[in-house]
Amino acid sequence: AGSARAARCPNCEYVYDEAVGDPREGFAAGTPWSAVPDTWCCPDCGVREKLDFVPLGEPVSR
Ligand SMILES: [Zn+2]
Repeated sequence: AGSARAARCPNCEYVYDEAVGDPREGFAAGTPWSAVPDTWCCPDCGVREKLDFVPLGEPVSR
C-alpha cells in the first residue's frame, strides 16, 4: 500500500508493471517497483532513470 503498481517512462511509452516485471532486465514477474534500483535506466530509450518515471496505478495528487 502507498506505492505505485506500475510506472511509465516520461520519454517513451515503456511501462514497468510490477505484475509483469521485466525478465529481460532481470526483474521477475511480481518484482515491486521499490525493488528496482534507482540507477536503473529505461530499457527502451535508455535516457531516463527510475527516478524520472511517472508512477501509475494511483491518482496523482496535483
Ligand atoms: Zn524510455
